[in-house]
Amino acid sequence: MARGEAGSKRKRVSAIHAQIPGGSYFPEAPTCATYTDMPNKPNFYAGGMLDRVSALRKDQSWIDARRAAAETRIVPVWRAQNFMLGDLEAPQAGLLTMADLPEEAEYFLLGLNGETAYFAVDLSDLEDPATHPSFAGRGSFADLRSFGPLLGHDEGNILAYARGLTWWHSRHRFCGVCGHPTVSAEAGHVRRCTNPDCATSHFPRTDPAVIMLVHDGDRCLLGRQPRFPPGMYSTLAGFVEPGESLEGAVAREVFEESNIRVGEVTYHSSQPWPFPSSLMLGFHAVATTTDIRTEQDELEDAQWFTRSQILNWEEGGPYRLPRADSISRRLIEDWLHG
Ligand SMILES: [Zn+2]
Repeated sequence: MARGEAGSKRKRVSAIHAQIPGGSYFPEAPTCATYTDMPNKPNFYAGGMLDRVSALRKDQSWIDARRAAAETRIVPVWRAQNFMLGDLEAPQAGLLTMADLPEEAEYFLLGLNGETAYFAVDLSDLEDPATHPSFAGRGSFADLRSFGPLLGHDEGNILAYARGLTWWHSRHRFCGVCGHPTVSAEAGHVRRCTNPDCATSHFPRTDPAVIMLVHDGDRCLLGRQPRFPPGMYSTLAGFVEPGESLEGAVAREVFEESNIRVGEVTYHSSQPWPFPSSLMLGFHAVATTTDIRTEQDELEDAQWFTRSQILNWEEGGPYRLPRADSISRRLIEDWLHG
């Protein structure tokens, strides 16, 4: 039975009756629902064990005490790369202590695990961390996507969180209102404009993006972008635009990329994707049309695939699924085995 049909355990949360002048993405007035039987398996980089203690971030004396505590752990980031111990065969998150690191660097509080505080630090000013005494011979900096799938979920979440927060700081050094420099405040969860006549507070940003497994019950719609590895087909995805609902973005993106219209849109789960600053919001969507067209630049191909076709894709064959740590893979796997 297809997800979203009668009998599935879900809760109807809203109904859309869209009548958009000049053409609607919703010719059949779709509904949006969310599962109530969500599997409790977290997505990669989601979950996480940290208490973000948002009230304590404002307490500078508490922050200073946590920074000085011997048990505090530091999550270094260098030019958007995370510190990794071991090698790509058996990586571990590179967590250091304050004794290992320069006192004068900016530290951003990630949260608490029990009594242990975790801070991120951006060391991008170092020319070559491999020769710095804090890191030489201890590990290496690498793109989280190259080793994240081999980490535990908690470690993966902390490293992704540190990457996302340090990236935001690096891109918001100046006030978008008046152009003056900004400074970090509240342990790194605000940047304040230094112009006293402006004094705007800027908060960390996350860009919502929808990603959706479109299906008609027996077949699912997968596409490929020219930049994908050879043979890889994935779910469709796109950014939510201003003034748009999530279900509206799902329907628009699917139509724009494939010419397929969708009816019921069902929320599945979400995944932080700090590459550099997205939150991926996963959906299953029921197709109401079948004629695929990919005239726009985004996709070079899109096809309908049956469950048995995908389940019989072989290693080294012409088709392959997306990477194991992607929510796309999760959406496909849950549909295949649902
Ligand atoms: Zn300003």
